[in-house]
Amino acid sequence: MVYESPVKRKANEMGAPTRSSDIADDMEIENAKAGAAVVTSKPAAAATPQNAVVFSPQLLRVYYQRLFPFQMMYDWLSYGNDWEKGSEIGNERDFFGKREWSFTIQPTPQDEIYIRYQSFKDCAEFTAAVQKRQPNKIDIGAVFTHPPKDHNTIKSDVFHTKERELVFDIDLTDYDGVRTCCSGANICRKCWKYMNMAVKVMDEGLSKDFGFKNMVWFYSGRRGVHCWVCDESARELSNDARSAVATYFELPLENENKSMDLSSNLHPMLVRAFRVLEPQFIADIIGDNGMGILTNQKSWVKLLKTLPEGFRTSTGIAAELDREWSKPTCTKSPTQKWAQLKQKINQATKKQQGKSAANTDSKTSESAEMWIYETVYRHTYPRLDINVSKMQNHLLKSPFCIHPKTGRVCIPLNTKEIDSFDPFAVPTLPQIVAELDEYEKTHGKAAAAKVPDWQKTSMKSSVQYFLKTFLNPMKTEIRKKRQDMKDREAAVMGDF
Ligand SMILES: [Zn+2]
Repeated sequence: MVYESPVKRKANEMGAPTRSSDIADDMEIENAKAGAAVVTSKPAAAATPQNAVVFSPQLLRVYYQRLFPFQMMYDWLSYGNDWEKGSEIGNERDFFGKREWSFTIQPTPQDEIYIRYQSFKDCAEFTAAVQKRQPNKIDIGAVFTHPPKDHNTIKSDVFHTKERELVFDIDLTDYDGVRTCCSGANICRKCWKYMNMAVKVMDEGLSKDFGFKNMVWFYSGRRGVHCWVCDESARELSNDARSAVATYFELPLENENKSMDLSSNLHPMLVRAFRVLEPQFIADIIGDNGMGILTNQKSWVKLLKTLPEGFRTSTGIAAELDREWSKPTCTKSPTQKWAQLKQKINQATKKQQGKSAANTDSKTSESAEMWIYETVYRHTYPRLDINVSKMQNHLLKSPFCIHPKTGRVCIPLNTKEIDSFDPFAVPTLPQIVAELDEYEKTHGKAAAAKVPDWQKTSMKSSVQYFLKTFLNPMKTEIRKKRQDMKDREAAVMGDF
């Protein structure tokens, strides 16, 4: 595994940026210490006319009764450890029961209650609890040494986390410094492109640099994406190792007037990311269809101002380009402007490098060359909410939940077709509930009864994708491992 960070980091840059977060809305929850209060309450946000349409207790009831994939979630999160299989070789029968779940429930419209440290022996208990409580939101925590529901009766020095998927949370609110179309919780198809880019870079990095195989991405339901890395090696990572993996992917993107201090001998991960990101930067960011950073004078002057100061003054490139691009006769497209800017930088740096290698010009030309990379990263590189990844016991919203504000299902993302993902086309709660009725009307009651409910709705393709590319291959791998253990045990017994 490669844990070396691609960035030379100063101590004061190590702290991850924190963002203000709304517990009811967001995926992150403070890590309460074991033994801390289980139930917290806060006034619920007033229902807007919008969420009155997309989300209601009645619709949610139907969803938990007929559509939430309890068995699939159990199959996934038990990792082959079945209560039913008892003490069979390799089976840890109470594995699922040591997982922390948390529910956000809303007993009255004015109140929101958040219940931590719940745990369920098996799929039946889990299903019954969700159907009884009707949580607005379900969060998944770590697997502990003991069932979390017993945490008050267990000595705190023996109650601790044992394992947890390595998770990543990427949220469009962290892109407010670069997106010009929306801010805060608002999103549009323009800024959603950032999420596609982030998924591509992270997915490739996690599989190529860390060798992870069992990974799955989800739409968070509103303005971001979540990644769950489920390989055994990932689940067993200590908090320090998690921080190292997360930090490996982190770049200091915040201050646009400050160099990222990247080495000119760029880390292979960053070289690879650049190959993914620069074409998207050109296609989706610089033009009018994106953030427009090379479409009008105000924007390009802002960008040109970020060129290294020494380079800017010694070459006059910024002023020259601004003059040319501002002419009423200039017909250059943003793509042509970017190409021209790069070409000018390369020409100027070659000229400067031709002079003495030891003079200050060579330093400025190096930083000007790196400016091209930094600019692309600044505008496209994944912005992780790094705190979510660092701790085993950080809770993350459960896949297949319904987002109470949008009514959208947290569905898996097809990473191979990520560019065609449209967050506004994600099935909503009223839609899928209506689809159940429509299916019955079209096919008749008897025929409809034979088909699993999720297959009658527009959740179908994403659930199938989840099964085919993630859950089934992982189950096969676990079964094979279990069989190998049994075979080895049988061979040892045969020796006696
Ligand atoms: Zn937007």
